[in-house]
Amino acid sequence: MNLLELARPEIRALEPYASARSLADDRGILLNANENPWSPESDDGLSLNRYPDPQPAALVRRMAEYYGIDETRILVTRGSDEGIDLLVRAFCRPGADRVLICPPCFGMYALNARIQGANVVEAPLVEDGHGFALAVDVAERISVCKLAFLCSPNNPTGDMIAADELRVLAQRAAGLVAVDEAYQEFSGRESAATLIRELKNLVVLRTLSKAFALAGCRVGAVLAHADVIALLKRILPPYPLPAPSVAAALKVLTPDGIARMREQVRLLREEKARLCEALESHPAIRRLWPGEANFVLAQVGNAADFVAAAADAGIRLRDQSYQPGLANCVRITIGTEAENDVLLSFISHRSSFISP
Ligand SMILES: *Cc1c(COP(=O)(O)O)cnc(C)c1O
Repeated sequence: MNLLELARPEIRALEPYASARSLADDRGILLNANENPWSPESDDGLSLNRYPDPQPAALVRRMAEYYGIDETRILVTRGSDEGIDLLVRAFCRPGADRVLICPPCFGMYALNARIQGANVVEAPLVEDGHGFALAVDVAERISVCKLAFLCSPNNPTGDMIAADELRVLAQRAAGLVAVDEAYQEFSGRESAATLIRELKNLVVLRTLSKAFALAGCRVGAVLAHADVIALLKRILPPYPLPAPSVAAALKVLTPDGIARMREQVRLLREEKARLCEALESHPAIRRLWPGEANFVLAQVGNAADFVAAAADAGIRLRDQSYQPGLANCVRITIGTEAENDVLLSFISHRSSFISP
């Protein structure tokens, strides 16, 4: 498979925009970018008057190290949302190419595909009594799609895709296979990034939004073959990463920051086990899918009522009923011990007016 040939021809032909910061570094007297020479007050040394480095070397190095991949195989993006968008725009021709999704799943894959005018092909997951698994016909459908989005652990079901399954799918695929690992840290399982050397068409999406607690900073990464990274760079906006976000990302990716993240993941896993134990035996909960992420999926009698009653109690939950196969299902994120206590007391109060 020639990765470059998968890309939209107009993207391959594109002369990338050369920004001031990409043509010259930020040393010396900077009279090349029409910036204001004075930095704002309370700048904290960030030089916010200057355009940021498009791909800050220190951040690229630290993320590459943390994800265990070399620097030619990583693109730092504004969250994985931007990674999804870049992949669709670089590879899918409007009205011609297909994007595979496996619902119930994260909504941005289909949304970005539709914005681009690509055709969305669905291979719905199958509930097999343990959780939601890929359907047998995925392998067939993936063979006619330019791009496939898989999610492991999956949002909102929490299921993982095994490395062997990924290997088979990547080999069958007509194009790229993107595995969204937004929740990888919570699973404690190995990242699919280890397979990128072996499977040229495999792409892994990572983010600092979830386990690293930086959702407000918008920092993520695309991990892929160097040819894919080079293609995505052609359509990446000139200055995607705000300096304060880069500074925050550098801080969480230090040994201390990583240790803190791991400790929080450990606490959230403990809290999740406690929550699951209480929910599993609860009359208001018909089914529970614990999954491998920092949330659980629960089926209740009436999801809309349940979510509205929770909102009245000051708790925001996410109704997933709009997704195929998830009638009356609610996604519950694991919070702090105190927050989870409030949730549990809401649920035990609720059981008192549920008919047996
Ligand atoms: C939260 C989430 C993201 C969003 O990540 P950002 O890096 O914040 O854009 C991506 N994929 C899935 C499956 C998510 O649940």
